[in-house]
Amino acid sequence: MSQPTDTIAAIASAPGAAGVGVVRVSGPSVPLIAQALLGRAPRPRYAHFVSFRDAAGETIDQGLLLHFPAPASYTGEHVLELQGHGSAVLLDALLRRVCELGARLARPGEFTERAFLNGKLDLAQAEAVADLIAARSQAGARAALQSMEGVFSRKVEVLLQALIALRVHIEAAIDFPEEEIDFLADPAITTQLENLRADLRELLREARRGVRLNDGLKVAIVGRPNAGKSSLLNALAGSDRAIVTPVAGTTRDVLRESLSLDGIALELADTAGLRETDDEVEREGVRRAHGELQRADVALLVTTEADVDADLAFFDVLPAGVERMVLINKIDLGQTTPRAETRGGIACLWASAKTGAGLDALRDRLRQLAGAGGGEGAFSARRRHVLALEQVGTHLGHTARILATSRAGELAAEELHRAQHALGEITGSYTSDDLLGAIFGSFCIGK
Ligand code: GDP
Ligand code: ZN
Repeated sequence: MSQPTDTIAAIASAPGAAGVGVVRVSGPSVPLIAQALLGRAPRPRYAHFVSFRDAAGETIDQGLLLHFPAPASYTGEHVLELQGHGSAVLLDALLRRVCELGARLARPGEFTERAFLNGKLDLAQAEAVADLIAARSQAGARAALQSMEGVFSRKVEVLLQALIALRVHIEAAIDFPEEEIDFLADPAITTQLENLRADLRELLREARRGVRLNDGLKVAIVGRPNAGKSSLLNALAGSDRAIVTPVAGTTRDVLRESLSLDGIALELADTAGLRETDDEVEREGVRRAHGELQRADVALLVTTEADVDADLAFFDVLPAGVERMVLINKIDLGQTTPRAETRGGIACLWASAKTGAGLDALRDRLRQLAGAGGGEGAFSARRRHVLALEQVGTHLGHTARILATSRAGELAAEELHRAQHALGEITGSYTSDDLLGAIFGSFCIGK
């Protein structure tokens, strides 16, 4: 992507009537546009009160004009902010006037894209700007703010420096072939690599939590028909969104509910029972339930005391990495009290979707899994970042194997090179125009 030379403009405030509306302009023509609107050169970062006029000299609106000279601005270019009344008609007229004076309409995310191209933000920070605007929970907003401020990027940078140091170390060995064997056998290299892998694992763990903070925790509720899955969804969501009936196999489609538990976003999906069936419609539901499990963070099995041992077989089809939980439901029928226990490494909770007994423990557990209590530094991340970190892990694994077996320095260095590349994709030091287009294209206009 080449450096922009034109000037862009957009309404930066949300549509609809509001007290204040903002038109934002960025690019080299900003000083001229500001001069034309104000009648003289504006003072930097000073709020001038001004009557905005159209080409014929008619007043469009009155408001404030602020000039942020390059490079100390959001985009790194000259930026002009025009604050008028929050009316779509007035803001459109003001935007049209700015375009007459030399700007063009901005594409979605184009201001932030320019900030990225000018080195004001790296790619992960730019993505965090969009995630902050779109945050659906307080914890998500806090985490996005951390990433926007560079908390995640700095951790990636530390890892990158360690990776480069190791690569330099190994490439130095390749340059002295007669000593290569001894050099690569140096325990310092193995230690360096093992430390790197441990740091990567930690960052991956934090990034996965960051994705959950950003997107919300995806919980797929599974279990045989009539176990109480819909009742549980309703109890957690506090509505009658899912249809609860005493007929087996009613929930044929996947029902989704987004909710916020004390500032944590949850996405619950009530799946059809995963039983074998001859009914075509129900079979489709089962297929979707399987699909739902593939993209879930947590599979929550709803069962009863009588069925729990048989129903644990539901977990057999789960992909690795999906957290397993069991809710033993309908305890009100057996006069049991709520409790928690770990069976075969799986957390089991006893509760009643009908009376609500034991559901607070479930909510607490879900909040924990969603990343609540992640501490001050919890940052947001995207799936693409996690995938990149996983790639880094694969290449570091290959590197370790090569060093342990063949001591082929060239191959090890090549793996490290690939790891470095994958890491660089997170912050945008290596990215294709296609990826940048996809990322910034999903922003809102004016940001
Ligand atoms: P699903 O097929 O797994 O979605 O099950 P439903 O939520 O539709 O519930 C099936 C039946 O079990 C309904 O009649 C519910 O009222 C009942 N049910 C669900 N949870 C409980 C519970 O905790 N206690 C009792 N006594 N009945 C429940
Ligand atoms: Zn590899």
